[in-house]
Amino acid sequence: MPELPEVESLVRGVRDALKGKRIANVSFLRPDIREVIPAERLKEILSGQKVTDVSRRGKYMLIHTKEGALGVHLGMSGRFVASDKSACLVPHTHALFDLEKNLQFRFIDPRRFGRLFSVEKNETSTHPFLAKLGVEPLEDEIDLGDHLFDASRSRSQAVKVFLMDSEVVVGVGNIYASESLWRAKINPQIPSKNLKLSQFRKLALHIKAVLSDAIDAGGTTLRDYRDKDGKPGYFQTNLAVYGKESMPCPRCRTTVRRMIQAARSTFFCSVCQK
Ligand SMILES: [Zn+2]
Repeated sequence: MPELPEVESLVRGVRDALKGKRIANVSFLRPDIREVIPAERLKEILSGQKVTDVSRRGKYMLIHTKEGALGVHLGMSGRFVASDKSACLVPHTHALFDLEKNLQFRFIDPRRFGRLFSVEKNETSTHPFLAKLGVEPLEDEIDLGDHLFDASRSRSQAVKVFLMDSEVVVGVGNIYASESLWRAKINPQIPSKNLKLSQFRKLALHIKAVLSDAIDAGGTTLRDYRDKDGKPGYFQTNLAVYGKESMPCPRCRTTVRRMIQAARSTFFCSVCQK
């Protein structure tokens, strides 16, 4: 499933390609994906309009014109890729966005958990998909450590599960929660309300670093790079504990362990993360 770093890489690539450019035409090849596509409204928002910006909120990409925005969520298997207009359509291509000359963006989603939706101009923080999202972890104006500390004071759930609550902070998926807790030397099972402010501040720095590293390593999304298992390239790099059960901890050589928390695998070092 695409995570925040992959979506951020995509947004940066799409922004470079689309900002200031006019979308000539839009076509939808089926009426629905996860939900019905608001095709008529999206055509009004996009067709013949210049793209004023491309932004990200959580794992949603927003392509803005002066009429509103197209919201894109990649779901489990969605891709939003640049292509030549003349190139053959791959199976499960659901939408085409024509630009000038021979350039076309395509939305492809085999499992159809993705979303294409319209966002009105005054709706960017109140749209039902966007309204409940927590803070952006990479936003400089937000003190993430203080925010996590404040939000956790009455919460006894394990800190790893707390970090993955997208109403608290967006984009700290399973991989990044395990990796940042390992980097910060925090036991994933500690009740969140028991962590000190200093620990949350340290954790926040590692969350930002883990996500930034993944974004830096993942800038190939627009070219649709996949490894042999179909995963984006950055999943192969820089992981210390995630997916490394029975391998030595890179810091102390203790065997990395796996446990299940809230139905998801957590990878950790029982010596480093007391
Ligand atoms: Zn260790």
